[in-house]
This record gives sequence, C-alpha cells and structure tokens, in this order.
Amino acid sequence: MFSVLSLEPSRYKYVLIPIATIGCGKTTVFRTLNELFPNWSHVQNDDIPKVPSKSRLVDSCLTELAKPDVDVVLCDRNNHVFRERAQLFDQFLALKENFLPADIGLKFVAVNFVKSDLTKDKLWDITLSRVSKRGNNHQSIKFSDDEEHAMSVMKGFVGRFKYLDTSVEPDSLFDDVIEMDIENKDFSFNNTKKIIQELSKFPELQKAGIDKIDDSKLESAFQKALSYVPTFTKT
Ligand code: GDP
Ligand code: MG
Repeated sequence: MFSVLSLEPSRYKYVLIPIATIGCGKTTVFRTLNELFPNWSHVQNDDIPKVPSKSRLVDSCLTELAKPDVDVVLCDRNNHVFRERAQLFDQFLALKENFLPADIGLKFVAVNFVKSDLTKDKLWDITLSRVSKRGNNHQSIKFSDDEEHAMSVMKGFVGRFKYLDTSVEPDSLFDDVIEMDIENKDFSFNNTKKIIQELSKFPELQKAGIDKIDDSKLESAFQKALSYVPTFTKT
C-alpha cells in the first residue's frame, strides 16, 4: 500500500567528510579504515587529475556508493572552507539520483580534525612537523624537493581555514560530527578507533562487523597505513 512513509529511504549509505588542513592525518586514518573494512571505498581528491569537471570527486564517490557492497565512502579532501563543504552537499544531493535508487538515503558524517580550541598556531606546528617528515611521499606536495613551495601551500590552507560551525549552513547539514584529536603522538590510531566507535551505532554498519575490531587488528591496519606510498603524481 502506498503511504507517505514509502518516500523515506529504507536504508542509508554513509559519506565521511573531513574538515581539515594538510597533514592532519586524513589519508592515514582513511587508509586504516580501508584496511579494516575493504568494502569502504577511499576516494582521494589527490588521486584525481586536475580536470575542468567540477564534480569529479563527488562523481567518483557516488560511483563507489552505487556498488551494492559499498556502504561507506571516505571522501578524502580538506574541505577547509565553507564553500567546499557547501559544494559537496549541493553536488551529492543533485547527483545522487543518477547513481542510487530512491530508497537509499545518504548520511553525511563530518570528521572534524581541527577542534574548536586548537589554535591555528598549534595546527601549523603539528601539521608542519608531520608534512616535513612525510617528505616527497605525497601526490602533489613534495616537501623535500621544494620546502618553500610546500610551506606556502600549507600556509594558504591554515590561513583560509574555517572552523566547523554547525549552527549555520552548510555545516548544520551534517547528520553527525566525529571530533578528532591531533595533539597526541599516534593520533591517527586513536582517531580511527574513535570513528569506529561512533559509526558502530548505525545499524547498516554493524553487519560489517564494525564492533568486532580489537586493538591488535587496528594496530596492524594502522602500521600498514603509515607505510602508504601513493602511486599517482599530481601536477
Ligand atoms: P593528510 O595530509 O591529512 O592526508 O595527512 P597524512 O595522512 O598524509 O599524514 C601526514 C604524515 O603524518 C604522513 O607521513 C603520515 O604517515 C604521518 N602520520 C599520520 N598520522 C600519524 C600517526 O598517528 N603517527 C605517526 N607517527 N605518523 C602519522
Ligand atoms: Mg592526504
């Protein structure tokens, strides 16, 4: 029987959206999750060539979510300004029907790497130390080849960064926010653990065995993620 309720999605897929700058550990956390849950797709903006199409990242994410086994996409980009967050919501909602049946809804989860009390000076110190150690091991930021250029790109991101503000759009559109802490030594280990704990409340993800991850499985996935070497060079 038809009812208005039938317009509600019968189940959800999940889009994890970082709020971050360069060097916050987005890729490390997402590689760790991808090791633990191979069906969660990791789509890196840094792997997408610079092309005129403005919706390549969202197209790639929706292509992944259209696969029956894929319930979660890890949308790896900094989204450090409101405009980028708004663009993701606009594009996901506009393009969704081209990829997914109407009874599948999307939930948008903010992964907030920059807590409201982390000052920009502190953010700079932490991420500079990480990115300088990363050296050339990145698609486009080759710190060892050109430190000055890498630092100026990083400064741009930190300078423009807009803290998450869920009291107004676009940030009020997030269904959930998971707070990261990047101030401790192996922050990506703890951050991944927190994401798993928070996501385990969603019924669709419980069946993926999300609540069966222990510290030793997490540690081995995290170690693999730390040794990640990108295969693509972005110019
Ligand atoms: P992104 O720019 O936000 O994607 O940051 P990355 O994930 O590339 O992390 C920046 C650098 O810090 C990389 O060289 C990582 O291997 C390293 N890194 C990230 N998280 C941790 C951590 O918890 N412990 C250690 N020792 N290194 C980390
Ligand atoms: Mg990265």
